[in-house]
Amino acid sequence: MPESPEVQEAARFLDERSAGRTIVSIDVVLPKALKTAPESVAGLVGAQIARVGRIAKMLDVELTSPGNGIRHVVIHFGHDGWVLWHDSAPADLKRSGPATLMARVRLDDGSGFDLTDAGQWKALTIHVVDDPRDVPAVAKLGPDPAAPEFTQAQFARILGGRRKQLKALLQDQTALAGIGNAYSDEILHAARLSPVVHAALLTDDEVARLYGHTRAVLAEATTARRGIPLAELRAAKRAALRIHRRPGERCPVCGDVIAEFTYSGAAAQYCPTCQTGGASLA
Ligand SMILES: [Zn+2]
Repeated sequence: MPESPEVQEAARFLDERSAGRTIVSIDVVLPKALKTAPESVAGLVGAQIARVGRIAKMLDVELTSPGNGIRHVVIHFGHDGWVLWHDSAPADLKRSGPATLMARVRLDDGSGFDLTDAGQWKALTIHVVDDPRDVPAVAKLGPDPAAPEFTQAQFARILGGRRKQLKALLQDQTALAGIGNAYSDEILHAARLSPVVHAALLTDDEVARLYGHTRAVLAEATTARRGIPLAELRAAKRAALRIHRRPGERCPVCGDVIAEFTYSGAAAQYCPTCQTGGASLA
């Protein structure tokens, strides 16, 4: 699933190319992707893109149109959704890669972008709303740990108030917005903390360490993804991960073998020496 560093770069890329452009068509190819009324999309033709931003793991396309005021298209990628850019958008609605074409937006200079989904369940969703907080997934988000104003005191309160294991807490969008399975593994490895330790049991030193590494891992990944084409961003993420999806490889810190266990139905990785005092979580 795309997480905040990759979605941040996708938003930056789309903002740079599409802000100020007018929408000439929006085709929703798979109707179930659209979670608001069909008319909500038709009403956007002729609207101008004001900006493209990121909310947690979602894209927020802000539009202005003469009769309609400000509208937002909020895109949740789900597990395997993504966005692809066309300098010249194809005239037909054929997919342009291996993933299913969910929707295509065409702009007034001939460019455009596709929303795609490569997964079995086609979980990408589109909401057209007046305010992003009208989207249920946005309304319940916790603070974004990549935001400049996010403090260690805020982080400590979130950890202290939840009876949850660290990995679950880092991925819980109502606690902290933007982190998923991959970056939670990377953050916990960098902070040398067990994925299954309870958040409320951390010492002050451990809270400080986890805060620092949460911020650093997200910031470094976001910087490293700058300028990478949309079609290559997900592969760039995978290549940069130090332990996630690398079971059996050597830990880059201590040389131990990276271990794997199943967590909330997904494969997660950790280093026994760095994180669990040698204990196996499998
Ligand atoms: Zn290690």
